Amino acid sequence: MKKSQSSLDSFLSGKTFSTKKDNTKNNSKPAEKNEKEKEKKEKTEKLDLGEITKKLQKRENLPEDKIIPPVKESKEQINDNIIKQEKSQKNKETSILFKEIVDVLLKVEQCKGENSKDQVKELLSNLFIKIITDYSQDLPKVYYFLTSKVGPEYISPEFGIGEGILEKIVGKVIGISDKQLKERLIETGDLGIVASDGKKNVKTMDAFSNFIKVGPQKKLTIDQIMKIYKNVAVKKGKSAQEEKIKILCDLMFKADKEEIKFLVRSLQKSLKIGASFKTILNSLARAINKLLKNKLDEKEIYRILLASKNQLSDEDIFFGHIIELIEKKSDKNFSDLIDLCHIRCGIPVNPQLARPTTGIKVIFERFNDTPFTCEYKYDGFRGQIHYYKKKTQIFSRNLEDMTETYPDIVEFIDKFIKESAEKNNKQLNSFILDCEMVAYDKKNDKILPFQQLTTRSRKNVDLATITIHVCMFCFDILLLNDEILINKTLKERRKYLYETFTESQYIQFAKHLDSNDEQEMEAFMTESVNAGCEGLIVKAIDKNSEYMPGQRNFNWLKLKKDYLDTSLGDSIDLVIIGASYGKGKRKGLYGSFLLACYNDDNETYETVTMTGGGLKDTQLEELYNKLKEIILPKAPSNYKLGKAEPDVVFEAKIVIEVKTADLSMSPIYTAGYDLTPDHRGVSLRFPRFQRTRDDKKPYEACTSEEIVKLYNSQTAISKNTNKTFNNMDIDDIY
Ligand code: ATP
Repeated sequence: MKKSQSSLDSFLSGKTFSTKKDNTKNNSKPAEKNEKEKEKKEKTEKLDLGEITKKLQKRENLPEDKIIPPVKESKEQINDNIIKQEKSQKNKETSILFKEIVDVLLKVEQCKGENSKDQVKELLSNLFIKIITDYSQDLPKVYYFLTSKVGPEYISPEFGIGEGILEKIVGKVIGISDKQLKERLIETGDLGIVASDGKKNVKTMDAFSNFIKVGPQKKLTIDQIMKIYKNVAVKKGKSAQEEKIKILCDLMFKADKEEIKFLVRSLQKSLKIGASFKTILNSLARAINKLLKNKLDEKEIYRILLASKNQLSDEDIFFGHIIELIEKKSDKNFSDLIDLCHIRCGIPVNPQLARPTTGIKVIFERFNDTPFTCEYKYDGFRGQIHYYKKKTQIFSRNLEDMTETYPDIVEFIDKFIKESAEKNNKQLNSFILDCEMVAYDKKNDKILPFQQLTTRSRKNVDLATITIHVCMFCFDILLLNDEILINKTLKERRKYLYETFTESQYIQFAKHLDSNDEQEMEAFMTESVNAGCEGLIVKAIDKNSEYMPGQRNFNWLKLKKDYLDTSLGDSIDLVIIGASYGKGKRKGLYGSFLLACYNDDNETYETVTMTGGGLKDTQLEELYNKLKEIILPKAPSNYKLGKAEPDVVFEAKIVIEVKTADLSMSPIYTAGYDLTPDHRGVSLRFPRFQRTRDDKKPYEACTSEEIVKLYNSQTAISKNTNKTFNNMDIDDIY
């Protein structure tokens, strides 16, 4: 470790850069040479999209029958395709210049004012049209770049480049000292801008001319950048950090002053152009609407895109199908995308989510004449279990592969399959189960508090050393023996679940009550709380009960014991973006934390409250240790602090769950200020820390719109009205 750190330092101080080592062909190490040759070969390989899709599916080791069959074409279609292919053949062999994308991003950055959202959509949709028409193989790459990802969430590692290292890289590339860089960072608040401004100074480049002799400066393409990003992300081991820095320095030396800005920001995981995932998908919908010559409404295309992506979280395959449909490689319509993007083993499905409710009476109003069922709401981690080709995989709520973390569950599943198959005399080849994984006291057959589960380590878990045991409570089945079940009713899916599997001590079915008797429901709620659960999840069981990936609608309602008969119905998940130093007992730690919600319209973080309530000493210490690693010199431009004045600001990374008495309007904070009549933000009263939410990314925190809706619903309940400001309907929330 020490050795690698010292070589890292000397690398950053410029000593290890050698023209010979990095740029001279003869001196290339064999591995590097192979890599280069491989890259060259890859470049010359011409793949059509069907081929790419097949390769991707094979790469993912998907069952043979999930591989898309070759598409049959009519004569006209073949002619049409030949013309299209000829037209774009020249471009098909290359990749779009990064500069072209950057030019669009610069324009997007300039969009301001009332009509800006639409302008952004128009600019991005034109970019998508260009890519789909001329560089279709680049579509997923451009999407990954715009969303600051390396590839599909469930298989792609993070960049693994912290803010500190990134600052050092930028300092190195533009030739300034750490001290100068910090000063510029305080001036601008944006490392991307610091890098870009630095690049304008050509003189600084001379100082490193031995390092940047990379032959005639070739223009960067998105394909090259994404390959480099992947290469960086997969590096592991002792010298990984050093190699990552080297590669990224090289890339940034090659970039021009505008390109470097967006490269830096993408490594920071936000392009800061005010375009969230929602905007990007909306822009793609507009592009497709134009390409399909208005045959389908833009909103309908957005719905299709979202529903398809929620089913199939592998964007490589998702975009492959989009291109296939637009290029009319089959006789399918665009609306068939949902079927093409069907769920499959090995690729996580976005889980269905629940809406908060404030009481049993509201449930009756909501379901009206729709039959429903109540289930225990277990308090653990969501786990999606995939079994196929005799292999088990466990995915988290945010689609991460957690199989390594739970070797005990993998073992239980093996037994579970064996016992279930024997007892029910059924062959089990593949399935996807939706469950909650809960900490469990094996001796006393008792559910343990959620906190116990968080003490389990996440990596290199050895079966023999596990002390906190887990029980899996299954509440849904999405696929069985290759048959997709999500369009069946919950009643039918439960039948599949109960008739196929047999419970054991560690794998049980979620307890349920099929009754609409108020007293029985109340008793069931008490029973669930006494058993260590949070309350109930009430679900439609017949009508409207198909499984809806990624959706949070009124078909699943959560009823938490702590929020019964309050105006809120739920706790709130917020991102820590700043803190004040502690005093007295909290001296040497952070005393209170600046919390923000996420504005998913423009990719900003808006402040909600400053609080230190509800935190134990150990939790304060834990947070201090995590947060001190992600301190920023200045609040980035996408933090809307309002009048909040924290002592330090952090990267938006850590999500926490807070309880609050209620919500109020605030002259200090900015949450949802765009949506309130006098542009004041919404704030929390008496917030108290509950837990950190490691299973949520910052962009999965409560959104500004949700905060305003919560405020609205509270006001509406207290005033007994159904309409609130901004004409938001209270029905939007409860
Ligand atoms: P949300 O998922 O609504 O954003 P959250 O992640 O904070 O909120 P909760 O408020 O705890 O989660 O409620 C939904 C979660 O409850 C589900 O994502 C799931 O993990 C858990 N859960 C526990 N029991 C069940 C059940 N029987 N059916 C569905 N989900 C359940």
